[in-house]
Amino acid sequence: MPLAPPPPLRIGLTGGIGSGKSTVARLLAGHGALVVDTDAIARRLTQPGGAAVPALRTAFGDSVIRPDGSLDRQQMRQLAFADVLCRRRLEAILHPMISDETQREALAGIAAPVVVFDVPLLVESGRWVDLVHRVLVVDCSEDTQIARVVRRSGWTVDAVRAVIEAQVSREQRLLKANDVLLNDGIDEAELAQRVDVLWQSWKALGAPTV
Ligand code: ADP
Repeated sequence: MPLAPPPPLRIGLTGGIGSGKSTVARLLAGHGALVVDTDAIARRLTQPGGAAVPALRTAFGDSVIRPDGSLDRQQMRQLAFADVLCRRRLEAILHPMISDETQREALAGIAAPVVVFDVPLLVESGRWVDLVHRVLVVDCSEDTQIARVVRRSGWTVDAVRAVIEAQVSREQRLLKANDVLLNDGIDEAELAQRVDVLWQSWKALGAPTV
């Protein structure tokens, strides 16, 4: 009988906006990791025909649903910002659905050596830390975050700052890290080299026992 593959190492990948988190996720996928992108899952659940849309319409009314049947994210964000009960209700609908879908996608990686959960708000949401073996933080200075997002997305400096301020601080994020990739003052080729070194260090850990 063929032996079952060892369980994959579960990595929670996080970092502030513009830190280079998506770039690192792509590099890890290149090494053979299965990447589960929780933002993409949330977007799929709330797009036209998305599984979360009926429950969101029932909870918050037609005003949060766009004519094309997708969630009006801006409207929803305003409601959730203004009213903590609204935010809790939104989370009570979305979080279990995101969890289920995340588990389903992760099962596809059962034979992969590493499953990477790409979770922008991993530290903020708290519940992720216990679900992974290690937390990988991609880190850089705020100035670098701003420069990258302005270049990548054409946002204003103030818009990037507002997102950074709404996220957990760099120090709080680093406190949760088992691994840190400093992605500052280096080009993408050097970042790739740092990811290679990290990948080797994970291999040296051996298979997780749970
Ligand atoms: P995040 O997912 O954390 O928001 P991204 O991975 O999208 O960040 O990176 C933000 C932008 O910065 C992208 O355009 C990416 O190509 C670029 N970038 C990331 N790391 C580097 C680097 N070391 N050198 C140059 N550009 C980088």
